[in-house]
Amino acid sequence: MKKRLSVFLAAFFLSAAMLPGNVYADTEEPLQISEEQSAEIADSVTRKDFEGRIYFLNPDGTHYTGWLVFSLDQTYYCDPDNDGAAATGVKKISGINFLFTSEGIYVRTPGIRTAEGARYWIRSNGGVANGWYIQGSKLMYFDPQTYKAVTGTYNIGRRTYVFSSDGIFARYTGVAAVNGKYYWFKDDSSLQSGWYENGDTRMYFFSDTYEAAANGTYIIDGVECTFDANGVYTEAKDPTLVSFDSSWEFADYSVINSGQAVMYYASTNRNNITVAVNAGHGTSGGSSVTTLSHPDGTPKVTGGTTAEGAVYSTAVSSGMDFNDGTEENVVTLRMAQLLRDALLAEGFDVLMIRDGSDVQLDNIARTVMANNLADCHIALHWDSDGLSYDKGCYYMSVPDALKSMYPVSVTWEKSEAFGDALLAGLASAGAPIWSGNPLDTDLTQTSYSTIPSVDVELGNQVSAHDDATLMVRVKGLVAGLKAYFSV
Ligand SMILES: [Zn+2]
Repeated sequence: MKKRLSVFLAAFFLSAAMLPGNVYADTEEPLQISEEQSAEIADSVTRKDFEGRIYFLNPDGTHYTGWLVFSLDQTYYCDPDNDGAAATGVKKISGINFLFTSEGIYVRTPGIRTAEGARYWIRSNGGVANGWYIQGSKLMYFDPQTYKAVTGTYNIGRRTYVFSSDGIFARYTGVAAVNGKYYWFKDDSSLQSGWYENGDTRMYFFSDTYEAAANGTYIIDGVECTFDANGVYTEAKDPTLVSFDSSWEFADYSVINSGQAVMYYASTNRNNITVAVNAGHGTSGGSSVTTLSHPDGTPKVTGGTTAEGAVYSTAVSSGMDFNDGTEENVVTLRMAQLLRDALLAEGFDVLMIRDGSDVQLDNIARTVMANNLADCHIALHWDSDGLSYDKGCYYMSVPDALKSMYPVSVTWEKSEAFGDALLAGLASAGAPIWSGNPLDTDLTQTSYSTIPSVDVELGNQVSAHDDATLMVRVKGLVAGLKAYFSV
């Protein structure tokens, strides 16, 4: 579940008296231009365009001056103060400001009119107005200099307001979005900046743009602060140690469970999905004790570290050695650390089941912990197969004989879909994939998982395991996780 920003809107009555700047009473009489007389003149003049200006010549060759009406949609004012050139823009005539297009056409129909990409307010007297326009609950403001409807943030008096891209005054209190950005409104709908707090929600509004800090990390008062896409401040939570809880389902089947896992929290782009990252092996003493292979006491149906037919399995095996002498548990830990950092950056929380060279948690304890604290479980391993070449990656799918046993019966389909997604991600990142993928294997992890759970073998004893090689696999697993969870 994503945390939704609470937006508080309060309806209130904004009277004209509360508004700074001009508010016109729109009561003037309509402009009277004699259409009949002008039509006769219009028939007798000849248009002349000269140096970017428009003139109309009388029959005697002189420049016509005054109003010139060809039709309601084609009326000019030939300015006597400008040698009869047709007026453009805003022109004051007999005490009234009129609006003309750059082609000299008089914009005359009362109401809100669009001319040359801007909105204007034409009053009933035919003049163009500035200041506040009020119609019912809708307010607009027309710039006193340009007469254009203002959009975006705009200062009136000592206050700053925000207008929609259509010029509509944003009449809010509290936090609300306008033009796709969050703003913080005072009770009079003017904007304010600084820290906003409402319950657990904190936001920051910049003093220059008044916009909320969002979708990134910003230095505010000398401190790095991170905000999500909705502008909500996400406090970086420190990692916490997590202990095994003996009341968890299947907890009694574990024999080594005194260790602690570490929960890491994403500080940005949080998706509230927790990935259990299980660095394979690394439990000292784990290979000298056993646990039940299956919760129902039946024997293993395939071989593996523990042979087929075994009712008890090694609690945690010691793992293989790479041909260069490196122990598997060292590489799985490094891989887990790189994967953790990449997942945190993508907004996943990470349960690091083994966060150091050793953790006193057996495979059942690791699985039960993941079941209860995470949304999915990835165990990282490299295979020991005796081959002289790197066969690539695969995951361990669920043998048919296990599919009717609880809890495998309720998880195996999800786990295999999860494994398929991870391998598809690995392939897309350029990691080699084994032709035998996936391989049915009876694992303790599989037998006790109640969440999508996969053992991924990222290569074998021949595989390179430098950071660059591991990062290809990290990118692949992250891509697979994002695809599986659709984030
Ligand atoms: Zn292994």
